[in-house]
Formats: sequence, C-alpha cells, structure tokens
Amino acid sequence: MNDITDLIEPLVAFRRDIHAHPELGFCEHRTAGRIAEQLRALGLEVHEGIGRTGVVGVLRNGTSGRSIGLRADMDALPIEEQTNLPWASKTPGTFHGCGHDGHVAMLLGAAQQLTRSRNFDGTVHFFFQPAEEGQGGAREMVQEGLFERFPCERVFGLHNWPDLPAGTIATRPGPIMGAADKFEILLEGRGGHAAIPQDTPDAILAAATLVTQLNAIISRRIAPTASAVLSITQIHGGHTHNVIPAEVRIGGTVRTFDEQVQDRIEASIREIAAGVALANGLSASVDYQRYYPATINDAQAAQEALDAAATVGVAQLAPDPAFTSEDFAFMLKACKGAYIWLGQAKPEGGAPLHNPHYDFNDDVLGLGIRLHVALVERHLAI
Ligand SMILES: [Zn+2]
Ligand SMILES: [Zn+2]
Repeated sequence: MNDITDLIEPLVAFRRDIHAHPELGFCEHRTAGRIAEQLRALGLEVHEGIGRTGVVGVLRNGTSGRSIGLRADMDALPIEEQTNLPWASKTPGTFHGCGHDGHVAMLLGAAQQLTRSRNFDGTVHFFFQPAEEGQGGAREMVQEGLFERFPCERVFGLHNWPDLPAGTIATRPGPIMGAADKFEILLEGRGGHAAIPQDTPDAILAAATLVTQLNAIISRRIAPTASAVLSITQIHGGHTHNVIPAEVRIGGTVRTFDEQVQDRIEASIREIAAGVALANGLSASVDYQRYYPATINDAQAAQEALDAAATVGVAQLAPDPAFTSEDFAFMLKACKGAYIWLGQAKPEGGAPLHNPHYDFNDDVLGLGIRLHVALVERHLAI
C-alpha cells in the first residue's frame, strides 16, 4: 500500500493544531504528549522524557538486525507571529517560525504509513527532539545514550527549506550547516575625564581598533579556500559626553565548517584582543563559546538520501552548505547519517525561516512523508 492520500488531511489539521499551540525548547509538553499518544495509537513502543521532553517511537518489522533513525524537532521560537492565519499561534510571543510543526507532522505521517505498509526488514526509530533552537536538545538526547539505547546504522533529519521550490529535495556530502560560536570581549581600563585623555586609557578607541582588527581575521588569517563568517553584533560602552568609560563590551558570532579554521579564529580573537588591550593600556578578557558544531553529512548517507529523494521528487546535489547552524550536528557526530533540505517555496514565494510571516507549506507534507518512507524502505530493504 503506497498511497498516502488519506493521511494528508488529518495531518494538516494536526500540524495546524501544533502550530496554534507552540512551545519553546524543553517546554514541549503538550506537543510531546500529542506525539506519544499518536505513536501509541499506532501500536509503537514509545519512550518519553529522553532529553527532558524528547519522545522516541520504535517500529520493528521482519527479522533483520538493521536499523535506521529519523528525526523531527518539536520546538517553537520566541517570536510574535504576524501571519493572521486561522491557525496562528494562540500563545503570545511564541511561534512555529521554523516549521518544526511541519517536521513533527511529516514524521508522524511516516510512522503511520510504515506501520501499515511494513515494506521493510529491521527497526525504525522515530526521534522527536526538543529544543533545536539554540538549546541543544539533540545534544541532551545523545548524552542520555540515545544511540546506545536505540542503535542506528543511519540517522536522517529533514528540514523544510524556503530557498528551494516545493518538490525539490537537496543535500550534499560533507558540511551542510555551519558551526555556531559566540564571543564576548570585555575591555577594561579605569575611566576618567574626557578632557584629560593623557591620563585615561581609552576603551572606546581600543574597541574601535578591535572591531576593525577582528574583521580582518577572515581575510588575513584564514585561507581563501576556506569558508568562515565573523560578525560583530554588539558594542556597549559609555554613558555621557565627558567621561571616558572604564569598560566596553564587544560581542559577536563566528560560523565555520572546519574545526581547524574554528580553532584558528578563536585563537586569533584572543591574541588580537590581548594585543589591542596592551597597546591601549587596558586589559581584555574573552569569553568564547562553541554552542553547535558543524553539521557534517556522511558521504554515503548523503548519496543514499539523494537516491531516495530521486524516487519521490526532484533530487538536487546542494552546491554549498548554509552558514546557519543545526543541533542535528550532535546526532551526526554520534551516528552516520545526513541532514536533508526539503524545498517548500510556493511559486509566488514566501517568508524565510524565523520571519514573523513564515508558515510551513502544507503542500509538501506528502513529499516529506514519502521521503522518510523511501529512506527506510531503501536502507531496510526486504
Ligand atoms: Zn530555526
Ligand atoms: Zn528549524
């Protein structure tokens, strides 16, 4: 039974219900509860509370020991929705602006279809993860022994992608999403009268130099063949016209695809901050945090994903990775697999991810389900 038409209408209603009741990272209690209830109704083995609010469904068929994992993220964003849709968020300031409501619906649809078609031999693990948006829900699930408890030969994660037309599915071997780091530099002097600069180390002037120098790291210290971004996004210092402030804070983000490049940038930031501070009679402290590593697809798994995609839609080898980040990276560090972009742009266009006018395109629900099913049926072929 390969026809999934009958699954779509109830899943659109389900998706819109999740959309209307968004929950932030690690608070997805209602969402996780609804997912667990649906998985139980299908007769799956269900595990709750993995990575706090994560849910795992297990579906076995046949006798082989082979296995595959499929992931959907469940959390919403702290954004005020401005779509005015009938299913718009009922929770002020919280909004499914990244389409995780659609991811949940597509993975549940795959569970429904695989439960009745059973055209595979092995075990399918359905991973519903919390807190993708910056809090590392995937990391928590992995740290709690996700792949020891539910071993997988492959793990795949889909993300709707407004930059690609609906019907297109893209991925690539190697890096697909960037590592995300954040830094804050505190320049400290003692402050003093602005009319007596000879006695007061100038943290503002040092900060200006530092901003310029930091922006030269990528062009002067990183090979032109490598890719990296360094953006300074905050600068705070001073409060009035006649005082040289005692301190200035500078903050920003770094995005990379390669740990050696990442190491070089962090070391450069520390070196330049110390050097500029010394030259200006100040001290500098640097807080550099790596919160998501780069998302790196296994080459074979990426090819398997493209082969599966070609059976259900238009498969495209993505020419470049994206500089945004994704905590599915933690699953790919623990298990071979691939992250896949599911095109969702309507012909008339639409809003990008994390935009208050964004909405998941229900027209691609069926394609997402068929892709999940194809991944399973190819990897666990009878
Ligand atoms: Zn997002
Ligand atoms: Zn997302």
